Amino acid sequence: MNSSVAPFAFENSFLRMPDHFYARIAPTPVVAPKLLALNRPLCEELGVSYQSLAPVAEVLFSGNQIPEGAASIALAYAGHQFGNFVPQLGDGRAILLGEILTPRGERKDIQLKGAGPTPFSRRGDGRAALGPVLREFLVSEAMHALGIPTTRALAAVATGEPVYREETLPGAVLTRVAASHIRVGTFEYFAAREDYRAVETLARHVIARHYPELEALENPFLPLLEAVAQKQAALIARWMLVGFVHGVMNTDNMSVSGETIDYGPCAFLDPYDPATVFSSIDRGGRYAFANQPAIAQWNLARLAETLVPLIHSDTETALEMATAAIHKIPEYFESHWLAGMRLKLGLYSEEPGDKELAQRLLSAMHDGGADFTLTFRRLSQLCDATPETDKGDGPAALFSKPDLFHDWAQDWQSRLHREPPLPSERAVRMRSVNPALIPRNHRVEEALAAAVRHGDLRPFETLSRALEKPYLDLPEFAHLAELPQLGAGPYRTFCGT
Ligand code: AMP
Ligand code: MG
Repeated sequence: MNSSVAPFAFENSFLRMPDHFYARIAPTPVVAPKLLALNRPLCEELGVSYQSLAPVAEVLFSGNQIPEGAASIALAYAGHQFGNFVPQLGDGRAILLGEILTPRGERKDIQLKGAGPTPFSRRGDGRAALGPVLREFLVSEAMHALGIPTTRALAAVATGEPVYREETLPGAVLTRVAASHIRVGTFEYFAAREDYRAVETLARHVIARHYPELEALENPFLPLLEAVAQKQAALIARWMLVGFVHGVMNTDNMSVSGETIDYGPCAFLDPYDPATVFSSIDRGGRYAFANQPAIAQWNLARLAETLVPLIHSDTETALEMATAAIHKIPEYFESHWLAGMRLKLGLYSEEPGDKELAQRLLSAMHDGGADFTLTFRRLSQLCDATPETDKGDGPAALFSKPDLFHDWAQDWQSRLHREPPLPSERAVRMRSVNPALIPRNHRVEEALAAAVRHGDLRPFETLSRALEKPYLDLPEFAHLAELPQLGAGPYRTFCGT
């Protein structure tokens, strides 16, 4: 390594964990690093000067130079992949550079993804392809702009080296920023080895880091389970309210901090269909859009199992307590989802029929093949009018049979008449929760194809900029909000490795 660079004031708490929690490993240098993207607003949030980072970003975020004070470790974890337990996964291609404290006092991990093999690589090459790196960059930043808890993307660097998948592809490294990289699968790793001392050490670390309000409790482990369950229920509700499909909700891809993590074959719904599956490897539809709340509960039950010996010395009692906590998850989910739906529909008071009203719109959208994002976005046009004043660019036009919408809209408008705020204020508030722009699959694909096939980053950069302001209708980005052409066929994503 040449002269050292120190853009980060690392404060690596994970290094204080026992040795078997991680492996020390340096990134493998790449032949021809080229900086593709450096996230300026994120630099500011992290309290890192963009000016001082930019000149060293290429060598740092390719893994060619390790910054001063870096931990440079790969974390151990296990996980249930599509329901099957794998006792050892771990960071097979990711290396944690270290943790920093932001000006707001938040601890953040900075991790290189695609930085070369680690002791956890199994048969993998430790690398990432350019397309999936740019997809994670775009979609994670879009989720952030939508206000949804997520890991962030700090940088993308092309390696100048090929990676071999079904075809030969250009390689890249993503620099990811996360509240932590501790997963449900991290707990499973130690529980599978019956190393409950390690489970407790990990749980206390997670409490200190993500749930400090529990630190003073005599036994904080059931409250920890409940807190993680609440965070996940809130998170999945947010996904369901924007039409996001994660694609691989394995327990190793579920963060205990409550952030969306590990963007692989993720995508957003265009027409509303609750059975939507995008991932080519999800043949049984386990991770279909509508299954996500139940899968989150299933994953949290796996977390609960790891905590049972800590929750109570009597196993029966501990199981009962843990089971009760898991059974509450659908309720948590529904209250977040319904609160979000009320906002999307412009309702600020609560009536018992609101859930049914929301569900009837969804089933009309399903029957009518209506676009999820645009239906909600266009509703605000009608909150001060009757459906008949819809001039053809309103929500009804999105339905194959407009009557499906009109029938629903009559009930919705009578419901609105029982609401307090002024219509104009309501429209503004509705537009602040119903995005105009999401990362449309066809637009994401165009941006990735231009970068991968022609080295042209302009579509990626334009889409990135547009997605920073998803709640505004900006004429310059109108083409990015358009629906895919009819006949484009069902969209498929391929597992992002
Ligand atoms: P993912 O599907 O990306 O969540 O990854 C599941 C597991 O496979 C994790 O342990 C990853 O670290 C590992 N993995 C995925 N791709 C690679 C790769 N190219 N090389 C090594 N390990 C990988
Ligand atoms: Mg993963």
